[in-house]
This record gives sequence, C-alpha cells and structure tokens, in this order.
Amino acid sequence: MTKQKKTAIIIGAGPGGLTAAYELTQHSTIQPLIFEASEHIGGISRTVDFKGNKLDIGGHRFFSKSDSINAWWENMLPSEDKEKVNPEQIDDVMLIKQRLSRILFLSKLFIYPIQLRMETFTNLGLFRTFKIAASYIKTRLSGKNKIKTLEDLFIHRFGKELYQTFFKSYTEKVWGVSCREIKPEWGSQRIKNLSVAKTILHALKENFLTLSSTIQKSMETSLISQFRYPKYGPGQLWELTAKRIEEAGGEIKLGQKVVALQPLKDSTFTVTVENQQTGERKQIQGNYVISTMPIQELIQALDTDVPDDVQKVANGLIYRDFIIIGLLSKELKKLMPDQWVYIQEPHIRMGRLQLFNNWSPYLTRDKGNIWIGAEYFCTEGDIMWELADHELIAMAVDELAQMEFLDKFNIIDAIVVRQPKAYPAYFGTYDHFPVIREYLDSFANLFLIGRNGTHRYNNMDHSMMSAMLAVENIVNGIESKDNIWEINAQDELHEDKRRN
Ligand SMILES: Cc1cc2nc3c(=O)[nH]c(=O)nc-3n(C[C@H](O)[C@H](O)[C@H](O)COP(=O)(O)OP(=O)(O)OC[C@H]3O[C@@H](n4cnc5c(N)ncnc54)[C@H](O)[C@@H]3O)c2cc1C
Repeated sequence: MTKQKKTAIIIGAGPGGLTAAYELTQHSTIQPLIFEASEHIGGISRTVDFKGNKLDIGGHRFFSKSDSINAWWENMLPSEDKEKVNPEQIDDVMLIKQRLSRILFLSKLFIYPIQLRMETFTNLGLFRTFKIAASYIKTRLSGKNKIKTLEDLFIHRFGKELYQTFFKSYTEKVWGVSCREIKPEWGSQRIKNLSVAKTILHALKENFLTLSSTIQKSMETSLISQFRYPKYGPGQLWELTAKRIEEAGGEIKLGQKVVALQPLKDSTFTVTVENQQTGERKQIQGNYVISTMPIQELIQALDTDVPDDVQKVANGLIYRDFIIIGLLSKELKKLMPDQWVYIQEPHIRMGRLQLFNNWSPYLTRDKGNIWIGAEYFCTEGDIMWELADHELIAMAVDELAQMEFLDKFNIIDAIVVRQPKAYPAYFGTYDHFPVIREYLDSFANLFLIGRNGTHRYNNMDHSMMSAMLAVENIVNGIESKDNIWEINAQDELHEDKRRN
C-alpha cells in the first residue's frame, strides 16, 4: 500500500504563500495546497491590469540584502543584460533601475533620503538650513534621551527641525495618528540605522566609490540606489512562481477564503474554506498550515477555545489601509525621472505619487502615455475609504493640478484600487503581541509567515525568508519557530545563516 502524501495548506497566494509552496515542491514530498480569497495572484505585490496598463499597488522595489533571495529572484526572472537578456526582445526579465525618489516640500523637490548637497541647502534657504543645523547640534549635545515614541526616535536621529521638515507630515499621513502615539519599532524598520552621520558617510561613498553589490549590501536600506523590477510589474514574478508551483504538482485555488481552522489532537488541522462566489463551504484536512492571513482574522477563525487575553490582544491590533488611483494622462507638466515622490505638503492629502513610466516603460499599453499612481492612506470605513471612485479620482486630479504636476484636461482614463490591511501598525495592542505569539506557537504544525501573517512591517524579501524558514522547519522537524520571528527583527542576523 502506498503511503499518502502529507498536505500543507497554505493561506494566501501573496509572496509569502507562493514562496512557501514553491519551496515545498523543491525540497519535500509534502503537497502544497494554496487557498486564496481573492481572484488574483501576488497579494499586495500583485499587478493590476487596467486596459493593458499595469498598476503596481504601491511601487514594489525588488531589493534584498540576502544572497539567497537575490538568487531566487534571478532564477525566476533573470536580470537584464544588454548582450544576453535584452528587455526589448524578451519578456521574462527584471530591469535594473537606478533609484530616484524625492520629497515635494515648499513646492520644491528634495532628494530622498535627504542628501547633503548644495541643492538641498539652496531649496531650504539659509534661515531654515541654520535652524536645522542648530537643532541637530542641540540634540547631539543633550546626550542620550529615552526613546519611547517614533517622534523621539526621529528627533534623536535627525534633530527636531529636520524631523518636522521632512518626516512628520508624511509619517502621520501613513498612520493617521501623531508620531507621538507610534512605537519607535516602525521607525527602526523603516529608516533602519539611517541618521545624519550615515547620510554624511553616504555622501562621501557616493562621491568616491562606484556602486557594487558589496557596497549595496553594507548600505542602509533607505539609501539603496539600485533595485530590480520585473518588466511588467511585481505581479509578473508572482504569476510565474504560481505557474512553476502548478507545473511541479502544487495546487492554487483562487476565490476560496479560509473561514475556520480547527486544530486536532494529532497536531493536524481541519480547514474550512468558503467559495467567494457561491458561498459554498467545504472542509479539508491538512497536516500543516502555513498562514499569511492577518493574524487578527486567524484568531477569529480558530475553532477552539481561544484564551480571553489572546482574543483581546488580537482584537486590538490595528491596520492601516491604502488607496491607489491610477491615472493615465497625455502629459505631465513637470517631466521627472523619479520613480516616486513623497508629498510633504501639509495641505495635500496625497501621501506619495508613483511615476510608473520610470519604473518600467513597458507598464503602459501605448508608448507616450503617462501612467501615474496617486497614493492615499486611510482606514477602512473612514470618509476617504467610503468616497465613490469618481470622487477619489476628482480629488487626486485636483491635488495633482494644485501641485502643478499635470493639467486636469489631459487625463485619459483612471482606476481606483483599494487595498485593505496594507500596513500592520505598531500601536494599538501591539505592545502585548507576545501573548498572541506564544499562544499560536503552541500549535506545532501551524506556521505564521509574511507581513500580516506575522503582523510585521515586512517587505517581500522578509516575507519570502519567513516562508523559506517555515518550510525548512517542517522538512527538518524543527519545533521552535524562533528563527521565523527573528526575521526583520535583527536585520543583519537573519541572513545568510539560513540553509547553512
Ligand atoms: C504601498 C506598499 C508599498 C510596498 N513596497 C514594497 C517594496 O517596494 N518592496 C518590497 O519588497 N515590499 C514592498 N511592500 C510590501 C509587500 O507588499 C509585502 O511584503 C508582501 O506583499 C507581503 O506578502 P505576504 O504574502 O505576506 O502578504 P500579502 O501580499 O498581503 O498576501 C496575502 C494574501 O492572502 C490572502 N488572504 C488573506 N486572508 C485570507 C483568507 N482568510 N483565506 C485565503 N486567502 C487569504 C490575501 O487575499 C492576499 O492575496 C509594499 C507594501 C505596500 C502596502
């Protein structure tokens, strides 16, 4: 009698879930079975096709300090190389882009991250430059202060004046609360070890060294100046991964939402999925469950007696949601080489502007059209989230016209995409997160990975690393999940210890 293959039920077909499934097909005999609630592949890292124009949900840079992740991407989609892999001739290719993003403030564009150049000081003016320098020196002289909030962290690193000039408004737009209410962890992940001192060092490096992968590796993430980008947007890579999973025998079921998860005595699970079109429910047995669904919803879906304290912490977790408005235009008033622009003007609600033509010229259907994305941060159910699509489009066009990016009469077409739970927040009950972690870790065959799956501000590479480690732990019978939780907690530590 042949032994039945074990099954790993994977919740979600975003980067985390797809990487886990792909790794299982490569390193084990365990059958991956992905259930994806939506009708698309790629999660937040998908690409939306709008009449042949490809919209990226936020502009996804493919950058990692991990050699394994870079090799994984290279294996899936080779990087361009004019001799052998020419994007003009082939489709399955990653473009290599030189990063350029700037901050719009006082109607002027400042290089982001802020660089010590003459242009920066000229734009700021003598008085403001003096105030920034004086407040930074004051902070340095005042010694080490306790860093309890994100505002404390920003001031500690940059001084009060620089923080108020370049970080406060955008950060508060993202989170919808004051920087005083946010834990410093988000800043530690977002700006890593970036500081005025690092910025000076970077300026020196930029002047004296040419960019090589070794130098990139030693740079702070915010300062990285080169990245990969699939010719047709991030979804291209994830759709290709899905194809490879299916070719290797894995299964991906779209439009199937996991609504209940019952842990059984032998550590396996009964998983209930609901067809999003018919409402029909069915139950499937899984030896393992790998989850990228939001932790809050996972706790709600657990069909067992969840302790009250765990329930309370899960219910108190906060997420921030996101709207991107894709606008197709005949022309831009300001022709700019930036991939994206941070909008720091306090009277404008838009948080960031994506210039998709500068990510890849292959994202538009018709060459010559301008394809941009206006990003707004909000909370599901709030006034902005509830605006009708035509109102959101009107707001974006109006703000872009105010900032003199474009002429409203040049708009050809537009699309609105709402992305719930785009950002897991480091406030609310996040302080008590270890209560949830300890409880969920007690289910031997349940593995939490990815961004909302671990409630971490993870990029694609972190989400992938957590998936790879979950598979390694399953294959090698490792019970502790500490290695997964370490990802993106100790940036340098997490790689490349994996697989060694
Ligand atoms: C604006 C923005 C910009 C970003 N830019 C970058 C960048 O430049 N570089 C970078 O590396 N990363 C970037 N990221 C982060 C990146 O998008 C995430 O790290 C990545 O998509 C997380 O992958 P994931 O698989 O964990 O989760 P997701 O991408 O969230 O995928 C989870 C999937 O699970 C599905 N799901 C949820 N609940 C259920 C359920 N109950 N049943 C079945 N399916 C379910 C969802 O539909 C979704 O498809 C950005 C994120 C945002 C919001």
